[in-house]
Amino acid sequence: MGCPHCCAFCNQHSISGEAREDGVPSEAEVLEAVHTAAQASADYTELAFFGGSFTAIDRAYMLKLLAVAKACIASGMVDGIRISTRPDYINAEILEILKAHGVTAIELGAQSMIPSVLELANRGHTAEDVVQASKLIREYGFSLGLQMMVDLPGDTPEGAAQTAQQLAALKPDTVRIYPAITLKGTQMAAMYYGGEYLPMGLDKCVSLCAQLLLYFEDKGIRVIKLGLQDEPSLRKAYIAGAFHPAFRELCEGEIYYSSALHELEAIGSKATLCTIELARGETSKMIGQNRRNLERLASLGYRIKVVESRELKVREIRIKP
Ligand code: SF4
Repeated sequence: MGCPHCCAFCNQHSISGEAREDGVPSEAEVLEAVHTAAQASADYTELAFFGGSFTAIDRAYMLKLLAVAKACIASGMVDGIRISTRPDYINAEILEILKAHGVTAIELGAQSMIPSVLELANRGHTAEDVVQASKLIREYGFSLGLQMMVDLPGDTPEGAAQTAQQLAALKPDTVRIYPAITLKGTQMAAMYYGGEYLPMGLDKCVSLCAQLLLYFEDKGIRVIKLGLQDEPSLRKAYIAGAFHPAFRELCEGEIYYSSALHELEAIGSKATLCTIELARGETSKMIGQNRRNLERLASLGYRIKVVESRELKVREIRIKP
């Protein structure tokens, strides 16, 4: 919605008008969406204004949407309101408004904490903006969510690890990790075609994001999204980048593959069939998509059988030679 910025990875300017010919969602449409969603039973339901910079939209329109959302909370149809926005569109006045309307969680698109990467991505905000906005959001008692992007132009795995460390230090409740995708009509597309930007490829990106996932989990921070939503508009605009409809599953599979390989190497028995025990419901991740993990282990000479055990927690494995 009329975002004044032009991030290198974003195609909002080239798609504006395509998504909705009749303009923006009305209050009635928001209410209708809530009614539809409320029919599905859930313990905790949030109304989320996502996919843009909510606090940067026209103020009168933002207040109209918030008024509908507040009414949904008052009537018990939803339990909380979640919004996403840019770090430079957070200040005390905005937070007062959000608080007064019952907003519970705020997610910031941080993307990177590396100044040169933010600059190349044309983000228009600094890493310090992320720090200040996050502190203010926490001071006001909102749940804080931070979103990071990996594989942006100029970024490296070390840069992504540094970004993750700096984001974790801000003590977010939740994190989302997105691989940068080159879309038609973006500055990144021009960089890609001009040879100035080469994405790292799916396998490397999966391996990096698997490490980031473990890192945040070790810090007790929930990663609520890993990879982009598979949508027709994304497929239509896709040029390059680590997109996979089951990206998170690939990352979780990679975690199991790495720890299994590590332990198998420590045991050092290639000749005999080894049993890998893991938590219930985790077998498909150990096996990997299209048996990818088992095949990789087999190519290294390891013969594996996978069984589930009630004794083990998610991510834990036990190998019996
Ligand atoms: S701030 Fe968000 S909507 Fe605006 S250009 Fe950047 S990514 Fe796109």
